[in-house]
Amino acid sequence: MIDFDLTDEHQLLENSVREWGAREVAPRIRELDREHRFDKNILTQMADMGLLGCSVPQEYGGAGMDYISLGIVSEELEYVDTSLRVIMSVHAGLNCLSLLTWGTEDQKQRYLVPQAQGKKIATYGLTEPAAGSDVRGIQTVAIKKGDNYYVTGEKMWISLADVADNFLVFAWTDLEKKKNRDTSGISAFIIERAFKGFSSGTLKEKWGILAGNTGFFKMDEVEVPAANLLGREGEGFKIAMFALDQGRYTVAAGATGLIRACRDASSKYALERETFGQRIAEHQLVKEMLAHMESDYQASRLLWLRAGALKNAGRRNTRETGLAKWFSTVASERAAGDSVQIHGANGYSDEYPVGRFYRNCKGAVIYEGTREIHKLMQADYVLGFRQDKPLRCELPAIQK
Ligand SMILES: Cc1cc2nc3c(=O)[nH]c(=O)nc-3n(C[C@H](O)[C@H](O)[C@H](O)COP(=O)(O)OP(=O)(O)OC[C@H]3O[C@@H](n4cnc5c(N)ncnc54)[C@H](O)[C@@H]3O)c2cc1C
Repeated sequence: MIDFDLTDEHQLLENSVREWGAREVAPRIRELDREHRFDKNILTQMADMGLLGCSVPQEYGGAGMDYISLGIVSEELEYVDTSLRVIMSVHAGLNCLSLLTWGTEDQKQRYLVPQAQGKKIATYGLTEPAAGSDVRGIQTVAIKKGDNYYVTGEKMWISLADVADNFLVFAWTDLEKKKNRDTSGISAFIIERAFKGFSSGTLKEKWGILAGNTGFFKMDEVEVPAANLLGREGEGFKIAMFALDQGRYTVAAGATGLIRACRDASSKYALERETFGQRIAEHQLVKEMLAHMESDYQASRLLWLRAGALKNAGRRNTRETGLAKWFSTVASERAAGDSVQIHGANGYSDEYPVGRFYRNCKGAVIYEGTREIHKLMQADYVLGFRQDKPLRCELPAIQK
């Protein structure tokens, strides 16, 4: 029998993150958003609650929760603000779970443990000024000399670029393969902000996720010990895609939370606002928008739960996670647009939260695979052009 109910443990987690968000962040988020301010105190509180190492086993400093818990946390955080969920995506999803799966014991002790404990913050650097969807277009190179690699390049549009301590960076180690755009020439590295030749900055022109930090970092012959190569040389592309399976999962669950936030704010407003002698909630066209928000919310939730169940079972889930991410992020755009519509002119002002939802939702339709890239992927699965082959390393199954 398929069980759609959350366990008591999951419900407890859901309630505690929900209560924390409502108490500690919701009253201040408009101000942080207006001031384009990333509040490190929020990060500290998330670390204290064990959220940053949510699905990392306790032996590596984490909370030892399952992947459904990671989804629950992501959904609840984005219900409050997208900037909070982004922290989970890059730190807990893209970075920590990649280290857990592909890291050596030494790398886990040196990097995963402090990250899972929230003592160090981590992110993921794939995108460059001239290469986003087309990963083969990255220009960063890592040249090996003796026991070190020397990494040179620039990463752009990186979440937490000015906040993180550790960076998962992708670079070409085989320059012949770079010329031929053969991804088996890409490798993954753990790079510390403290390494000489590393610098970062914040993107000031961004118009969404304003309480979050997004920026760039530059590497000018950064000396990286060979011991910081993640996986084997040439496995970087596989690791980058593996990491996206984890990040996309948190994005999918987060977008589900955003749809719920749109639904709740809109239904509240619809019950208060009156036109033509009745509450706008009585107008059928307004009800239609609310009904779509509800169906999008429920469908999105089922999709990320299914992806999470596959992760818990240790099964490959690229197809299911991609579908969940694509569906829920596009649905969140629909919900955010309609929530502004239901609020009329008030929705056009940041006195109400829906304008923020409208700005924030768009990022997730772009990052971790654009809407178009996900459409192509799903069509290729249907057509049999694409199949998921087993990887050398898989996310460890969690049996509860
Ligand atoms: C807020 C934010 C945070 C981000 N955080 C990170 C991060 O932490 N780390 C990181 O590495 N990156 C991050 N990114 C970058 C993000 O992953 C890229 O922006 C994304 O992969 C798209 O790449 P691009 O912007 O270069 O667009 P492009 O790849 O140039 O695409 C431009 C347009 O062309 C379309 N397109 C491209 N190729 C095809 C095709 N084959 N068929 C059809 N349409 C196509 C795209 O769908 C898109 O509409 C972030 C981006 C944003 C906005």
